[in-house]
Amino acid sequence: MREKTYLCPRKKIRKDMRKIVIAIDGHSSSGKSTMAKDLAKEIGYTYIDTGAMYRAVTLYALRQGFFHDGKIDEEALRAAIGQIHISFRYDPASGRAATYLNGENVETEIRSMEVANHVSPIAALGFVRHALVAQQQEMGREKGIVMDGRDIGTVVFPHAELKLFVTASPEVRAQRRVDELRAKGQEVSYEEVLENVKRRDLIDSTRAESPLRQADDALVLDNSRMTIAEQKQWLLDRFHEAIGQED
Ligand code: C5P
Repeated sequence: MREKTYLCPRKKIRKDMRKIVIAIDGHSSSGKSTMAKDLAKEIGYTYIDTGAMYRAVTLYALRQGFFHDGKIDEEALRAAIGQIHISFRYDPASGRAATYLNGENVETEIRSMEVANHVSPIAALGFVRHALVAQQQEMGREKGIVMDGRDIGTVVFPHAELKLFVTASPEVRAQRRVDELRAKGQEVSYEEVLENVKRRDLIDSTRAESPLRQADDALVLDNSRMTIAEQKQWLLDRFHEAIGQED
């Protein structure tokens, strides 16, 4: 009896209080951000989109004229990296967090094809990764976060309690991206987007610095044939398992 009264309330409190780190990695346009955002909202965690941080650095470099014939001037960016401040602030209009670059809301601009076409070489630079990874680790220090990216389970939080690797075929991912961009009023061709998705996969997975790879202990989800509702449920189940396993 004594044991029972002790265990039950304690277990309940621990369940309510425990915060874990959820690392979601995977290919471009695999839908991981949508899944991660939905999960964070459902369980009351903070969602952190690390791709937005690499995109914000890219936007900064484009605006400063650091690209010449599609090639980044590394030294110019290295000299400026300390002046690039990225943060996320809640936007009541969208009900989501928006990305800020040096105090300016750049949420829409960082999603353009121009930024998508220049982001992978920026994300391959060691000094850029170093600066952003340090910020990401700081953001997750208190746990209670869902962070999505390419290297979250392998580099940023190698000890995350729950790691997922999300993928889908390049064709499915390209179509989803086209639908998303067109819904926002951007006219893009399927071929152009498919080409961008494949090129980013190649650069992201073959770069020397933190290449995109599945962590050995990550759970893999190929969502090519899953609805958003099915993915949401799958993820929620994995979260409850992860929390339960620790009891
Ligand atoms: O996730 P998203 O497609 O917005 O990311 C944009 C780009 O940022 C990716 O193609 C990848 O090159 C880079 N990235 C990264 N590491 C992360 C997140 C994104 O290299 N953790």
